[in-house]
Amino acid sequence: AKRAGRGTYRYYTEALTAAAQNKLTLDTRLRRALEQREFELYYQPLYRIADRRLIGLEALVRLNQPGLPPVGPADFIPVLEENGQITALGAWVTQEACRQGRAWLDEGLDFGRIAINLSPQEVRRGQTDERVRAALQASGLPADRLELEITESGLMEQGERAEAFLHNLRSIGVQLAIDDFGTGYSSLAYLKRFPVSKLKIDRGFVRDLPGDVSDAQLVQTMISMGRNLGISVVAEGVETEAQLDYLHELGCESAQGYLFSKPRPASEARAWLPRLAEA
Ligand code: C2E
Ligand code: CA
Ligand code: CA
Ligand code: CA
Repeated sequence: AKRAGRGTYRYYTEALTAAAQNKLTLDTRLRRALEQREFELYYQPLYRIADRRLIGLEALVRLNQPGLPPVGPADFIPVLEENGQITALGAWVTQEACRQGRAWLDEGLDFGRIAINLSPQEVRRGQTDERVRAALQASGLPADRLELEITESGLMEQGERAEAFLHNLRSIGVQLAIDDFGTGYSSLAYLKRFPVSKLKIDRGFVRDLPGDVSDAQLVQTMISMGRNLGISVVAEGVETEAQLDYLHELGCESAQGYLFSKPRPASEARAWLPRLAEA
């Protein structure tokens, strides 16, 4: 028993050391990436279901460091949130999305809106809102071409702080979307406090459609919540025509997912964009 105990202990410390080292390397990689601008934005299209018209693009950050194993945002965003560098990444993401949006407009291309993701820590009045204003001004992107996605749980976590922050940005025309909707247990009354223009149904509720009856009911409830609040509803993670047809039947306005496209670099996203209508 003693030997097994010691063995377990050694295994445990080795695992801990490995985890600490992994974190250290990722930490170092992220620091370098921020300094040397090794992040890249990919874009995923959102379509209106009724006529399959492009209504927007979601910017999703990627880390492509040559010679190093790829790591996705689900793994590195939490590290940046922990070490306080998420605001540095957020600043870059905001500037880059605004710059790219303006460049497309200047080429006469219509992307609808560009959405960027904000971490809950960024939802602080006096920091991110100033940064967003500055990025809009520097790029010349009209404010109503920019949308901010904040998760439902992040919104609840920030409470009143989020309310002031969001009203401030909404007043200059920036649109607000609630991400991962359905996972944060917010009520209709709660949502009414925020100037929200879009609800994004979490892909966990979409995955098993049309077969899963309870998921279908939940999705239907979320769609009627959107209706009651006058907010448009997008389904995330749509991968099949059957899911899309069913969402359409349930009254869902728009959709995003691998069925249409995976997130792609700007150079490829360009091919999806129709020409701007003549003013
Ligand atoms: P999210 O905002 O919920 O983004 C949607 C994620 O689902 C993306 O993963 C996207 O590639 C993936 N996805 C889209 N359609 C489908 C589909 O049909 N099937 C499946 N299985 N997946 C689909 P990604 O790009 O790995 O991003 C993961 C998360 O990382 C994002 O979740 C978001 O929370 C965070 N993130 C990404 N970029 C940023 C950023 O610039 N800033 C911040 N703060 N967070 C970001
Ligand atoms: Ca999102
Ligand atoms: Ca989401
Ligand atoms: Ca399910």
